Amino acid sequence: MTIARAEVANLYLQLCADCIPVRGASRCAICDLTRHEILLVPSSCYELLAYLSSDRMGVVLQRFVGTPGESFVEQFIECLRENDMIMFVSDPSLFPPIAERWEAPGVVQNAIIDVDDVVHDFERIFSQLDELGCQFVQIRGFSSGLSIERAGEILGLACHTSIEGVELILQHDPNISDDVYLRFLEAHSLLGSLTVHSAPADATLTMASGTGDDPSWPSKWVRFVRQRIDSHRHCGVIAVSTLTPPSVSTFFEGKLFNGCLNGKVSIDAGGHIKNCPSMSNSYGNIATTTLTGAVKMGDFKRMWAISKDQIQTCKDCEFRYVCSDCRAYLENPDDSYSKPLKCGYDPYSGEWTEWSASPLKQQAIRYYGIPHSDATSAIESMNAV
Ligand code: SF4
Ligand code: SF4
Repeated sequence: MTIARAEVANLYLQLCADCIPVRGASRCAICDLTRHEILLVPSSCYELLAYLSSDRMGVVLQRFVGTPGESFVEQFIECLRENDMIMFVSDPSLFPPIAERWEAPGVVQNAIIDVDDVVHDFERIFSQLDELGCQFVQIRGFSSGLSIERAGEILGLACHTSIEGVELILQHDPNISDDVYLRFLEAHSLLGSLTVHSAPADATLTMASGTGDDPSWPSKWVRFVRQRIDSHRHCGVIAVSTLTPPSVSTFFEGKLFNGCLNGKVSIDAGGHIKNCPSMSNSYGNIATTTLTGAVKMGDFKRMWAISKDQIQTCKDCEFRYVCSDCRAYLENPDDSYSKPLKCGYDPYSGEWTEWSASPLKQQAIRYYGIPHSDATSAIESMNAV
């Protein structure tokens, strides 16, 4: 054993407060909220961790001496130590857990605005989003109706509002070079990422978002995808790459609220105000209803509160607090608590498969009219903010 038993015999094993185990059916995910990493271990480790922390190390380790599990317990403790997830302490009460809460300054935190042939009145929309304190906006252009020039004007309108970041999806214009798209990204500080669909080839161009050589600045990227993204139906894919790297804020938001719809307001291509453009419930049209008025309506916030602990299958998944969720496309369209249709993960086997190929999902795929091309690998670039 790498830990010196004699040295820790009178100490307690303490999982760091920012490392939170989430038990799934087959695996346990220990979410490191500071390093933004996930350590996957067998699900039995969840109870093992609780046991190892329940008394002094000398006492808890004694139980395994000479048993078949002794070496596994040693390896597990070593693994936690190598990942800086545990401490050995004399008084665990001095290390309370992080309070489970999530707060945000505004009424709304993020918005999706879809654009097809008709470009909405963005000056009016941004002014209303500012009133609600909205911080992040995703603008999805499904056709040439939203040109790069028009998108530049729209980004200018977002300056000096509460909006801190914009994600943009545009249709590829064959008259515009990749360099121009990259310069467009560089020129607009609010723009965090640009996805260009219907491109001749898949490619990603990245640039540092800060100045100087500071590697801690996140990079910004232009992603070209061959796939045509021509409607809201492409949204909602859940894959390994779409899981949210855990932080204190995202983890507890994901635990207590809906990972996609909490704090969200959307405007679909027809101007209808919704929880998300793919949902049928409309709370009025932006031409005649204000976003503030819509958010205050009856059950607008009902979806915000549906957490993964309430959803079939997901409630047994170790990724449930780092997964965005989708309430618009469901395995069972008649059950608003059923698993997201576009997820290929099976928490009972711990395996990911291509969701669109599952025979069990074909009926729901037809029901929603989801394009055949929506395989996970093709469409991961369109994900709700
Ligand atoms: S992920 Fe699903 S619920 Fe969220 S915006 Fe997309 S379609 Fe709507
Ligand atoms: S959608 Fe559900 S089953 Fe799929 S990864 Fe997310 S929490 Fe797990």
